[in-house]
Amino acid sequence: MSSKGKSGKTGLIFFPAFDWAISPTHPEREERLLYTRDQIFEEGLMDLPQIDEYKPRLAEMLDIARVHFCVPDVESQITEAHLIAAGSTLTLADALESGEIRNGFALVRPPGHHSMRVVHGNRGFCNINNMAILVEYMRSKYGHKRIAVIDTDVHHGDGTQEIFWHDPDVLCISFHQDGHTLYPGTGFVNEMGGPQALARTLNIPLPPGTTDEGIHYVLDRLILPVLDEFKPDLILNSAGQDNHYTDPLANMRFSANGYARLNEKLAPDICVLEGGYAVETALPYVNTGIIQAMAGLDYSHLKEPDFVPGRFVQSEQMSREIEATVAQVQRLWDDRDELVKDALEGLGDFYRRKKRIFYDTDMINESQEETVRLCPNCSGYMTISTQAQRGYGILNSAFCVSIPRKACASCREDAKEEYEEHIDDCRIGYVCMQDKDRDTFKFHNNMTHTQKSY
Ligand SMILES: [Zn+2]
Ligand SMILES: [Zn+2]
Repeated sequence: MSSKGKSGKTGLIFFPAFDWAISPTHPEREERLLYTRDQIFEEGLMDLPQIDEYKPRLAEMLDIARVHFCVPDVESQITEAHLIAAGSTLTLADALESGEIRNGFALVRPPGHHSMRVVHGNRGFCNINNMAILVEYMRSKYGHKRIAVIDTDVHHGDGTQEIFWHDPDVLCISFHQDGHTLYPGTGFVNEMGGPQALARTLNIPLPPGTTDEGIHYVLDRLILPVLDEFKPDLILNSAGQDNHYTDPLANMRFSANGYARLNEKLAPDICVLEGGYAVETALPYVNTGIIQAMAGLDYSHLKEPDFVPGRFVQSEQMSREIEATVAQVQRLWDDRDELVKDALEGLGDFYRRKKRIFYDTDMINESQEETVRLCPNCSGYMTISTQAQRGYGILNSAFCVSIPRKACASCREDAKEEYEEHIDDCRIGYVCMQDKDRDTFKFHNNMTHTQKSY
């Protein structure tokens, strides 16, 4: 919220990636933003004095490596379209920081919120996490400390959650259709962050069929009050449009007007497009509504051709269910300091967790062991040992080290030692080290004995 009031303009970047698709019939394909583009031009939005269009730029390798451990390397996990989608968010970040705009919306694809810290391939249509890349850029370039990411896509933002799992300064809130009934099958209330960051990840699973009323209840009663208390420097929105009632991949009953109103209340500094697969019946209206709300324009006339007020009514039982979930999450948030204190008691110097991650698009199975040092003097360095398998063959393995911002001398020393120890270990394919303080990335290929750095 640092730049509010400097200028009244809303920055837009429109990048439909007409040459990138998973397959010709896949829902994440070129036509996704075709009708949106027509609608935006038809409404004359690009010609309004309140709106400035920006040209995207390419994200740099370091922008990606600041977040991700791509295996075997960044280049092999991305296309130019990924660099442009991620780079668009950074262009808006710079415009926001310089005061040229008061907010911005990156209407880009491919999306990103299912990409986790380690990347072996494509998960849920995502290779790299545009939102996380934006967050880390804003922190390293502009020194922001506390950032809130609100994920309003119908699918749980599991990638963003995983990347900031141990970070108490990034509040990740995701509401979504219940994981029992939708991909990726996670995002339950009890997923709330690592021991040092409990309740800085908040999940609000909602029943299929939730309407404007239910989503605005969550926003008014939970998300807005939590943001008031967290006091972030920036509010960022992973804006997925697939809560819409016509979306073919999900079962919610949210409207374009409901999305616009949500955006007006949330007042995000930057929105980054995630999913939304009703190419013709939802995306043009929802995106237009969001742009109008961000630019302070009247969106009351905005509605889908087939929308009739009162078309979707939420049952009493559904309302009770949503109220109960909100109350439960509210309690976790209220108890956050207590939860962290209790969790750290009895844990030793290191916290370990094992994970199995499935890449549905690329059919890769990954197993990971993540270790975080519970350091009294800094947020502690992290190591990840990862192995990916496709079918019966080992695809790739890596050992990754991350040095946090404001790392203490002992964490920095130990992290470097771990990196050195794994170099030329023939059981591991690649060794990488991310240094957030110095903003550098080192990468060693154990098979070719070559090194690279960004
Ligand atoms: Zn989605
Ligand atoms: Zn330390």
